[in-house]
Amino acid sequence: MAEIGFIGLGNMGLPMAINLVKAGHKVTGFDRVSSACDQARAEGVTIASTAAEAATDRDFVVTMLPNGAISLSVLNEIAPVARKGTIIIDSSTIDVASAKKAHEIAAAAGLGFLDAPVSGGVGGAAAGTLTFMIGGKADDFEKAKPVIDVMAGRMVHCGDGGAGQSAKICNNMLLGISMIGACEAFAMAEKLGLSQQSLFDVVSTSSGSCWSVNAYCPVPGIGPKSPADNEYRPGFAAALMLKDLGLSQEAAASSGAATPMGARATEIYKSFVEAGGADTDFSGIIKFLDQVK
Ligand code: NAD
Repeated sequence: MAEIGFIGLGNMGLPMAINLVKAGHKVTGFDRVSSACDQARAEGVTIASTAAEAATDRDFVVTMLPNGAISLSVLNEIAPVARKGTIIIDSSTIDVASAKKAHEIAAAAGLGFLDAPVSGGVGGAAAGTLTFMIGGKADDFEKAKPVIDVMAGRMVHCGDGGAGQSAKICNNMLLGISMIGACEAFAMAEKLGLSQQSLFDVVSTSSGSCWSVNAYCPVPGIGPKSPADNEYRPGFAAALMLKDLGLSQEAAASSGAATPMGARATEIYKSFVEAGGADTDFSGIIKFLDQVK
C-alpha cells in the first residue's frame, strides 16, 4: 500500500481521496478550507497543516485544484520538499501551457509528474469510475497505474507532458458544442410540434446520436436520468464548462487551430453564465436559447 499526499479536497478531490483510503492506502490530505479538511478527516484521511507537509515523504501526491495558477503555485510549494522519485498526479483541469511548465518544474526537482485530468464528474469520483486522460512518461504512468486505477473506470495514456490536458479540452470543447446542438434540436422540435420523446427515439439511434442526447438529454423526462430531471442542478456547472471552453480557446490561439464552433460555444456559455446560469448544469442552456444573440 502506498503513502499518498492529496491536495485539494473539494467536490472531486474528497471522494477521490476517500476511495484511496478505502483501498487501503495511507492518505495525508490538505485543503486551504478547514471544513473540507474536517470532512476528509472523518473519512480516514490524515490532515496535514500545509501542502508541503502533505507532500513530504510520499510515494505519490495527487492534486485536484481549481486552475493552472493554483496548481503551479502548489507544485512550487511541494517540489522542494518532496522526496526524489515521488510521482505527482495532477488531476486538476488546467491549461496546456501550465501543465507543460509543471512537468519542467517537477523534472528539475527529480520528481515524476503526470497531467491526469478526469471526466465523469462528482458521481464518477464517488463511484471510482472516472476516465483519466494522462500525459507524461510511460514509466511514471506504469508506476502510478495501481493508484489511479482505484479512482478510475478507464485510463488512457495520451502521450507526453500536456497530452492529458490537451485531450481533456478537446473533449470538453466538443461536449460544449454538442450540448448546444442537442438543445437547439429539442427546442426546434417543440416549435415544429414534434414530440420530444419521438425526437429522442429517432436521434438516439440515428446519425445525430451523441452523449449529450443519449446519456445526458437536456429535456426533463426523456432518456436516462440527467440533471434536466433535477431542475438542472449540476452535474457539471455551466461555469466549469465556460472555464474549459476558455482553455480550449487559449489552446486554439496558441496552436493556430481553427475552432469557429468552439469560439461560438464559448460566447454562448459566457452569456449564459453572465445572465445568472453559472451554477446551473451546463445542459440548462436549453432554457437560455431564446436569449442568445
Ligand atoms: P472545488 O472548488 O470543489 O475543489 C477545489 C479545492 O481546492 C477546494 O476545496 C479549494 O479549497 C482547494 N484549494 C484551492 N486552492 C488551494 C491551495 N492553494 N491549497 C490547497 N487547497 C486549495 O472544485 P472541484 O469541482 O473539486 O474541481 C477540481 C478540479 O477538477 C477543477 O480543475 C475542475 O475543473 C476539475 N473537474 C471538475 C469536475 C466536476 O464535475 N466538478 C469534473 C471534471 C473535472
